[in-house]
Amino acid sequence: MHKKIVIQLYNAQNDVHAYTRIREDTYRDMGSFQICTLASGSKGNCTYIRSGNTALIIDEGLTVKELKVRAATRGIDLSDVGAVLVTHEHADHIKGVEQFSREFGSKVYMPLTCFQTMRSRGEILSRYEHVDGFEAGFDIGDLRVQPFRVPHDARYTVGYRISDGKTDIAVATDLGFVSDNTLARLCGCKAVIVESNHDPLMLEKGRYPYPLKVRIASKNGHLSNADSAAIASQLVASGAERILLAHLSEDNNTPELAFQATKEQLEKHGIREGEDVVLDIAYQYRPSEIIEL
Ligand SMILES: [Zn+2]
Ligand SMILES: [Zn+2]
Repeated sequence: MHKKIVIQLYNAQNDVHAYTRIREDTYRDMGSFQICTLASGSKGNCTYIRSGNTALIIDEGLTVKELKVRAATRGIDLSDVGAVLVTHEHADHIKGVEQFSREFGSKVYMPLTCFQTMRSRGEILSRYEHVDGFEAGFDIGDLRVQPFRVPHDARYTVGYRISDGKTDIAVATDLGFVSDNTLARLCGCKAVIVESNHDPLMLEKGRYPYPLKVRIASKNGHLSNADSAAIASQLVASGAERILLAHLSEDNNTPELAFQATKEQLEKHGIREGEDVVLDIAYQYRPSEIIEL
């Protein structure tokens, strides 16, 4: 049965703007996904996600102090973040996890192998929540969380697909290549945050020592602009309306190169950026806009 709900919003002059909407459920259901990358890159990562009454973050690689400042600039209230989902144990993804989870009372989720690796390094994870059959998926509040393993040079790395029952989104930021399984997890999502780490030529000619170049470009390293560009049209064909290119290297990439690489691939498939899909860059030193779905 449909409920008719009238929301009245008052502006500063107290004028009334009435919107009538038909929804199947209650007011709570009117909340759509809100997504914001608060930081993205090798100096720290954190993505904020909310739908309905449930808010969570993926990774916390900043100091909590810095995270609070950035959240405030986007009007994001971190006080009800119930969960921190960790992708892997590299410092740019976990630096602030313990402090954040203590301060905000959030539970911390990650693959068991990742937890064990962190523990063996002496890291404290007082709010870690064990989930049996982690990769089979689990619920956090109103959201279904589906982790999926990705190839990367940590002990165990995952991306996350998150669904509120109507809409799916996915985050995959540290991975060496897009496997069939990874692509399947990303397809069908309305918004995808995907790594576009380096321009291969900049990496090759850059100042990094040779072994590091090899590591980054390897199948357990990071996705190049061309790698993420190569899957963009499939993401759009399967329903992506927003693609956020993330974890850009400061040394071996520029936002322009990353953006152009994917835009050009989309155009080759007759997909117009800005019309059929909106393409954005996630930055290291400032939050993205809030993406609303
Ligand atoms: Zn990283
Ligand atoms: Zn990493």
